[in-house]
Amino acid sequence: MTKEIRCYGCGAVIQSENVKKIGYVPKNSADKANVLCQRCFRMKNYHELQKSPLSADDFLKTLQKVADEDCLVVYMLDIFDFNGSQIPGIHRHLMNRDMLVVVNKRDVLPKSLKTGRIVSWIQRQLKEAGVKPLDIILASVKNKFQMDDVFGAIEHFRKGRNVYVVGTTNVGKSTLINQLIYQFNEGDNTSAPFITTSEFPGTTLDLIEIPLGDGTFIYDSPGIVNSHQMTHYVKEKDLKFILPSAEVKQIVYQLNEKQSIYVGGLCLFDFVSGDKTALMCYFSNRLKLHRCKLENADGLYNRHQTLQIEAENIETIDQMKHYDFHLDTKRVDVVISGLGWFSLQGNHQKIRVHVPDGVAVYIRENLI
Ligand code: GDP
Repeated sequence: MTKEIRCYGCGAVIQSENVKKIGYVPKNSADKANVLCQRCFRMKNYHELQKSPLSADDFLKTLQKVADEDCLVVYMLDIFDFNGSQIPGIHRHLMNRDMLVVVNKRDVLPKSLKTGRIVSWIQRQLKEAGVKPLDIILASVKNKFQMDDVFGAIEHFRKGRNVYVVGTTNVGKSTLINQLIYQFNEGDNTSAPFITTSEFPGTTLDLIEIPLGDGTFIYDSPGIVNSHQMTHYVKEKDLKFILPSAEVKQIVYQLNEKQSIYVGGLCLFDFVSGDKTALMCYFSNRLKLHRCKLENADGLYNRHQTLQIEAENIETIDQMKHYDFHLDTKRVDVVISGLGWFSLQGNHQKIRVHVPDGVAVYIRENLI
């Protein structure tokens, strides 16, 4: 029997029969060691977005595989889209497997914010979702912040068992695994084959297996696509504007009623009624925010120079879906999944939020 060769980028089994299926490479490259499938090759070399061909069912099957084994689960979340990066019902799917939660992208939050405060907030959010982890680590994998704690906790909690890294697409699973590979290669990143990481959701296609040296393995799982995130409603070329790569600078507006704020051309926040309110905005620094009168807001959509980005397939603001909220007196965040959030002190204001149909809008306890 010929040995199965896997793409070192996404873990898919290499094949040359069907160009539309995962793991495809042209025939003459198929038998080389360290091969990248065509999809990963293109993503790596040309930064092309390749849509993830895996279905929700495939993702559930992967979770089932994890649930069937006595293992340690590393559940990765993204602090920039904490709600959107949660896997709904994960505690039910994984049947109380031992779980370490790693919350990634600490670097996008203000440095001045105390870690203890953020972790307490995360604890409350996870409790609400029914998730009971052994520990929570707030890290920035890309910047190697708290990585010794992450490696230490994995070693401590795995107790000689296999480790599975799970999470929605884009939380940083592949970046974490690459750092693990780097660790095992004792800092030599020239010889280690690097798995595909990218700003495009859905990079890893099958379980990627990395030996831990004692007969056990760490597995990178394909990200579960959360179709409610804004990333799925913008043009490929605009993804770089919405995903923050550095600390997000807070922008504050003193907003009067009947004023609106555009976030690029992707979201419109209407302050319908209420007393003057300070509105804190937390979005990628590369996104333009634009204040206008509520009555003029509709006409502004499509003025590309003013708003910078339009949502895919939306020509007028009427084609967006809107959500109405009547706030009480709590301080809250109004989260636009995958895009960022507004934060304001509730004082019985009425607000309306317009987003492309399908993008989730959440009200939650304020994070900052
Ligand atoms: P995966 O889909 O979960 O495997 O995610 P990737 O590892 O491919 O990462 C998705 C995106 O998040 C890439 O653009 C990474 O560069 C970025 N990313 C990963 N870790 C961090 C981090 O610590 N901070 C920030 N700001 N971005 C990160």
